[in-house]
Amino acid sequence: RAHMDNRRGFHFYTHGMNELAAKRLVLVRGLRHSLERKELCLYYQPVVKLATGQIVGVEALLRWRHPELGLIPPGDFIPIAEEEGLIVPIGEWVLREGCAQIRRWEEQGLGRLRLAVNLSARQFSEVDLPQHIASILAETGMPAECLEIELTESMLASNVEDAVSMMKQLKSIGVCLSIDDFGTGYSSLSYLKRFPLDVLKIDRSFVSEIPFNADDIQICSTIVAMAHGFNLRVIAEGAETQAQIDFLTKLHCDEVQGFYYSKPLPPAELVDFLMVKQCGKDSLAAA
Ligand code: C2E
Ligand code: MG
Ligand code: MG
Ligand code: MG
Repeated sequence: RAHMDNRRGFHFYTHGMNELAAKRLVLVRGLRHSLERKELCLYYQPVVKLATGQIVGVEALLRWRHPELGLIPPGDFIPIAEEEGLIVPIGEWVLREGCAQIRRWEEQGLGRLRLAVNLSARQFSEVDLPQHIASILAETGMPAECLEIELTESMLASNVEDAVSMMKQLKSIGVCLSIDDFGTGYSSLSYLKRFPLDVLKIDRSFVSEIPFNADDIQICSTIVAMAHGFNLRVIAEGAETQAQIDFLTKLHCDEVQGFYYSKPLPPAELVDFLMVKQCGKDSLAAA
């Protein structure tokens, strides 16, 4: 009986693996053509300045419109793109498309928004990344200071010397640098001293249980105070409630991004959102 159970277990196991492997293969094959078939698209999540309530920027978040599987979130295909060596061309497309979109919005009179773009480790270790970014800025007319490159702690920890050198090269182009998901990796305080950073983004996991979790309250307070001590801007990610906004405002956290204001939106919907916000503000100012 034990033997049969084992066999059965084994059978289910291999069946599951095959299915997983088959799914992965579909994604790998599809991903190779996703760029030329124009299946990748960017959603934009507004970033709000707490002191004024103004939308000061957006974060570009990648989506894949798969012809059969529908809209695929980045968590489901970016790891595959990284393993398959596809993340560099995809990441370059994200930068170019994001910058071009910001310029189109500016030309449409929607104002100049800042653009935050996530970088993957593979991109960050490409020696010609600074030249690529510089030519995208020149090509699109995007002002360098409006582009915020998001790095993660793990990218910075693996080789500190190389990371510092790459960050300095990026800074010399004029772009801003931020650490995404701050607090979840192996940050050492000495990094904050050595790295030419502009922004810390507090990870969503520290924001989600505010104001109920005393530890998270302490963590957020500490990150904001420390960031300001280093002259860095702080952005809190994942704020969903009024109570969280109130708490972050009291902390003097600079900016917030989260479902409380808006989910990531396709470009046309972001424009609608901006218009409503602008009208709301204008009518308030007029009153
Ligand atoms: P991230 O850079 O930390 O982006 C924020 C993620 O949190 C987004 O998920 C966003 O939808 C989600 N989020 C924002 N506010 C809230 C909230 O209030 N509540 C909840 N529950 N979630 C919120 P998304 O779009 O699925 O992206 C996941 C991750 O995929 C990103 O995390 C980023 O690490 C990665 N990613 C996205 N686009 C790119 C890209 O173009 N290149 C690379 N390398 N990575 C990307
Ligand atoms: Mg990010
Ligand atoms: Mg990220
Ligand atoms: Mg994040």
